[in-house]
Amino acid sequence: MTDSSTSHPTLLSIVAPFYNEQDNVAQFFERIYALVDQKNPKYIIELIAVNDGSSDATLPTLIEMSDRYPRVCVIDLSRNFGKEAALSAGLNHVNGQIVVTIDTDLQHPPEKILEMIRLWEDGYEVILAKRSSRDTDHFIQRSSANAFYRLHNIISDIEIPADVGDFRMMDISVVTELNRLQESRRFMKGLFAWVGFKTITIEYEVEPRLSGKSSFNTWQLWNFALEGITSFSSAPLRVWSYIGALISGFSFTYAIYLIIKTLMYGSDAPGFASIMVTVLFIGGVQLIGIGVLGEYIGRTYNEVKNRPVYIVRRLYRSND
Ligand code: UDP
Ligand code: MG
Repeated sequence: MTDSSTSHPTLLSIVAPFYNEQDNVAQFFERIYALVDQKNPKYIIELIAVNDGSSDATLPTLIEMSDRYPRVCVIDLSRNFGKEAALSAGLNHVNGQIVVTIDTDLQHPPEKILEMIRLWEDGYEVILAKRSSRDTDHFIQRSSANAFYRLHNIISDIEIPADVGDFRMMDISVVTELNRLQESRRFMKGLFAWVGFKTITIEYEVEPRLSGKSSFNTWQLWNFALEGITSFSSAPLRVWSYIGALISGFSFTYAIYLIIKTLMYGSDAPGFASIMVTVLFIGGVQLIGIGVLGEYIGRTYNEVKNRPVYIVRRLYRSND
């Protein structure tokens, strides 16, 4: 796909979300820009750095970097919009032929991009990087991640590949399509899978965070999983009709049994326990059902408002 008839280098856009990463910025830039200069003269790099409302010195450090390195565009968002929105902001500003999204805590080894470039040259449009092991996670994280991917892929129309994060390379044609998607709640993993294109997966070894700590706790990851499922599946909504039918069927049979029993043997006060159990059970099921409805109505409400995914305070560019 590279245009070999011209000697123009191909522009590679790196989209990098920064949220309180002040101590990682310098090394991130260094490792990214080291990729091309010597090893790949056919390519030049543009770095779209999104400052996702950091409260530390990330922004001034990024601006300083934009003086030192060529083709840097710093997008300063007006507040913390979350990683998904930050990625969307970055993807909306790319100019390159190829686009890479990568974490800025250096957990995603930038050197893998060279391997991705080769696959892009071979004609792949999406190159996913999959973590080769989850050894750095503790048991609960690992098993809940597995459970999430399994459940998600059973009940959703779109299959998302397991253990693939936001480290990936895409041809610009893929990014153009992603940018056309209108939804404001953006579950990027799902959207990436939804657009399709010719995809290949490579493996990488997750590195420990260079500095700082992860912004995602267990509760946020749980919400993120819910987000993923409700974004790409209406099965949780539909399943209630079946559960309702099943329970009604049972209750009906049970009611007939009770009526016959009462007619034959008279009423027995000790039935209190079974009544309570039934009432509480049905009540619980109804509440869950309402909760699921609420989840989807909430989503609809959010989409209907049609607010922008992010707001940019200011752009800073390298002077070149
Ligand atoms: N990030 C962001 N906005 C947020 C949280 C995180 O842009 O609200 C960025 C963060 O700077 C990093 C990437 O998303 O580049 C991954 O974040 P983190 O390392 O906290 O997540 P984990 O590696 O634990 O999944
Ligand atoms: Mg990380």
